[in-house]
Amino acid sequence: MRITIVGGGIMGLSAARSLARRGHTVAVFEQGNLPNPFGSSVDQHRLFRHAYGAEAGYSRMAETAFQAWEALWADLGERLMVPTGTLCVAGAEDGRRWIAESAATLEAQGRPVRRLTPSQLAAEFPLVDAARYTDAIHLETGGVLLAGRIVELLAHHLNAQGVTLHARNPVTSIDPERATVTLADRRVIGADVLIVAAGAWVTRLLPETAARLTPSRQTLAYLTPPEGVRGLWARAPMLIDADGESGVYIVPPVAGTGMKAGDHRFSLEGDPGDDRTPDPDEAYAVLDRARRALAGGAGYTLANAATCFYTVEPDERFVIEPLTPASWLMSPCSGHGFKFAPALGEALAVAVDDPGGAAALTAWAAGR
Ligand SMILES: Cc1cc2nc3c(=O)[nH]c(=O)nc-3n(C[C@H](O)[C@H](O)[C@H](O)COP(=O)(O)OP(=O)(O)OC[C@H]3O[C@@H](n4cnc5c(N)ncnc54)[C@H](O)[C@@H]3O)c2cc1C
Repeated sequence: MRITIVGGGIMGLSAARSLARRGHTVAVFEQGNLPNPFGSSVDQHRLFRHAYGAEAGYSRMAETAFQAWEALWADLGERLMVPTGTLCVAGAEDGRRWIAESAATLEAQGRPVRRLTPSQLAAEFPLVDAARYTDAIHLETGGVLLAGRIVELLAHHLNAQGVTLHARNPVTSIDPERATVTLADRRVIGADVLIVAAGAWVTRLLPETAARLTPSRQTLAYLTPPEGVRGLWARAPMLIDADGESGVYIVPPVAGTGMKAGDHRFSLEGDPGDDRTPDPDEAYAVLDRARRALAGGAGYTLANAATCFYTVEPDERFVIEPLTPASWLMSPCSGHGFKFAPALGEALAVAVDDPGGAAALTAWAAGR
């Protein structure tokens, strides 16, 4: 079949790869450069973790996703995930509950979890301000996906596999019934199947999705660690402070990347087309969260900041569903979709070939 994909982020490209492998003729239209630095997928890193609170569906999906990344590394000839392990800490009630639920869910799935007392936390992870936390778990699994590089290499790979990549080619409107897209020069491109993987811009092409998909401006802080601990950070796990009010995640500086902090509180504001200059107040607020989580936190300084967009679903679930018999919406974000992209792309390709599986795919993608 001829397949058109709108959006050249990790989701559109992953779906393109799986569909091309199944013998389809695939064309991807991307409004910006490919990779597009304004897309949600293009940053130095994204985290891969199994800990998912009580969300057993996503915790289980992480294992499927891990295998799907392995298959991608074989295609790309390069492994672009750096294993770090996962350290989750909490001191507030909601964070402690999330940690307890994560541990219970993982153990029920047969995955080992190590619970740490505050004194074990202090002894084993001196980079963390252990005095702030009552609960901690450590997982051997988890790591840092080198996101920007993955998107770049995947695009090259697809090009070589015969997928047609139309960069700097915005789609101005779509017709989901006919599976056509209209380009800025008014050309109408037809296909047998249309997939809309437009990230935070999705509501422009499909205004009805605005009821449940909200672009959300998020600020990231790149940190400079104090002298003396940089070597320790090279071997440190990703850190997830799960406390709702003050929580933060910290990405260790692996494989020549920067050390990064962000928080998982949704702004639910902004438009992905807005100026991306980061708001200094938002960047310093993230820095403060990171400083509170870290031993000697005052020694960490702001190296850089960035603005990136989540596409938020109210329950943080992924939306992959048929729009019509000939069209699909692929919107897995809420700030946690990257790790699943090759698995989701593969599952969507299977459902394109066998639409009878659509309902099961939608439920699985929603973590149910
Ligand atoms: C700050 C931040 C941190 C995150 N951290 C993590 C993490 O640690 N772990 C994790 O698993 N996930 C994480 N995520 C989520 C993950 O990055 C997203 O789920 C994923 O990148 C979404 O990919 P996408 O392809 O749907 O969107 P995008 O990458 O935005 O791709 C959509 C593409 O569609 C293009 N497009 C849109 N409209 C049109 C049009 N009309 N015509 C042509 N092209 C169009 C856009 O230009 C864009 O390139 C994070 C996201 C952000 C923003």
